[in-house]
Amino acid sequence: MSSTIVRLILPLTCAVIALILRYLLADQSPNTTSQLEFLLQQLPYILLGLGALMALLTNHALEAGITIGLLCAYWLIQSFLQSPLSSQPASQIFYLLTLLSPALLITYALMPQSSCLQLQGLLTALLTPLIVVLVASLLAINQQLFLNAATNAINNTVAGSHLSMLSWLLYLVAIGLCIGLSLYQQQSIHNSVLGCSLMSLITYGWIQLNSVSAFMFSGMGLLLCINLTISLLQIGYRDDLTQIGNRRALQQTAKTLRGPYAVAMVDADYFKKINDQFGHDLGDQALRVIASLLKQTANGGKPFRYGGEEFCLLFKGKTQQEVLDALEACRQAIANYDMVVRDKQHRPKKLKEGETRRGASKRKSNLRLTVSIGVASSDNGNASNSTNPFEQVLKSADKALYRAKASGRNCIQAA
Ligand code: GH3
Ligand code: MG
Ligand code: MG
Repeated sequence: MSSTIVRLILPLTCAVIALILRYLLADQSPNTTSQLEFLLQQLPYILLGLGALMALLTNHALEAGITIGLLCAYWLIQSFLQSPLSSQPASQIFYLLTLLSPALLITYALMPQSSCLQLQGLLTALLTPLIVVLVASLLAINQQLFLNAATNAINNTVAGSHLSMLSWLLYLVAIGLCIGLSLYQQQSIHNSVLGCSLMSLITYGWIQLNSVSAFMFSGMGLLLCINLTISLLQIGYRDDLTQIGNRRALQQTAKTLRGPYAVAMVDADYFKKINDQFGHDLGDQALRVIASLLKQTANGGKPFRYGGEEFCLLFKGKTQQEVLDALEACRQAIANYDMVVRDKQHRPKKLKEGETRRGASKRKSNLRLTVSIGVASSDNGNASNSTNPFEQVLKSADKALYRAKASGRNCIQAA
């Protein structure tokens, strides 16, 4: 029900925004240049608003917090920083923006992702508006509260910019941190914060440049929308556990197939027993190992997690005969992989069971993995006379896999 309402709200919101823009633009002077300038000034609100909406609807609290924070910052720039920086309250607001923006970006780079429906996520998303309200209340009590510090900072700028040493330091920390985290964790949020840190540094550092804030904040809005879209696509097409494509990704890739191709179905042997003996966590770890070995060894074959303990290898432009060596290499790599299981990882839960196995648990035991493989290809009649040739090849590979299981497992059978 709620998703239906959201789906109804989205087209209505778009229609309302389009109408408001048309109304505002039609009321501008007939001069095209001024209309374009006006549109450019509104562009950050549109892109950042869209980013915030996407982030809130998909429960990305960090991205929601960043886009809402940037919306607040852009509104403050447009409303209070269009007069000389030495005037009031421009100098105090500029001073606070140059410190709070990088500090908040660092905070967002370090915070864990959370859902907007939880209290932590809600606070993450609304962090900047809360700080703006707090600072506005402080300034309402004492209008000169940050005046000395702001004047000091504006008189002691660094590197030909409008930024103080402290602000530069905070931006350099944000940029260095995000480069490190992007390389180490490869999460799109760090990539977004990195881009936002650079563009916000340029905005405040060279705020006197014509329309710099409109261009830079549009860039930030665009970056966040693109990164959010990529993250959403990854959620839909990537298997979370093994970090390879899922069944939907396989079906999507199948639509693009031209010419010959081979498909191999790879199924872990006796996996239920592995789970029972070593625990579900070790089972998960074993699935990661299989995915990684398939990726490394398949020599041109692309692995997908088909479901459960079953994988699919897709070889574009190859025949069944041409992929047998690669499949044999995969089978051997998995069979020869030593997964060492330490005692504490599979300590029995029940005390009684623990007592009987105590002697044995002092030793480490090795988890032996094997897979059975069935392979088929489009060239050996599997795909002919079928409305869905890929499904047909897949079925043939599955039948071959069944034969591999029946003939003792840890082997390859061709269709
Ligand atoms: P066979 O050799 O005939 O394929 O036997 P099997 O035990 O591998 O096959 P079966 O279909 O009986 O059991 C598959 C098991 O795989 C059962 C299920 O708990 C386990 N499994 C499926 N997905 C996952 C997963 O994501 N993680 C873990 N740890 N286990 C999984
Ligand atoms: Mg199995
Ligand atoms: Mg299976």
